[in-house]
Amino acid sequence: MKIDINWTSCQAHGLCAELLPDHITLDEWGYPLVDNTPVPTRTLKRASRAASDCPALALKLTPR
Ligand code: SF4
Repeated sequence: MKIDINWTSCQAHGLCAELLPDHITLDEWGYPLVDNTPVPTRTLKRASRAASDCPALALKLTPR
C-alpha cells in the first residue's frame, strides 16, 4: 500500500505527520510531504488510522 494525498481536500491540519512520522513530514506551510515508499505491514494499522482520522478525509491508502 502507499499513501496518497488529495491536494484539493487537504487543509494542512498536520495530524497525518503526527501519526506517521516515519513516512510524512510537513512543509513550511503545514502540508504533508510523503516519502512515497510502500507502507510496511507493521505500519498499516497506524496508516489506516491516519486515513480515517484525517479531518478533511484527504489521505487514502491505495495499492502500489
Ligand atoms: S491530516 Fe489530512 S488534512 Fe491534515 S495534513 Fe494530513 S492529509 Fe492534510
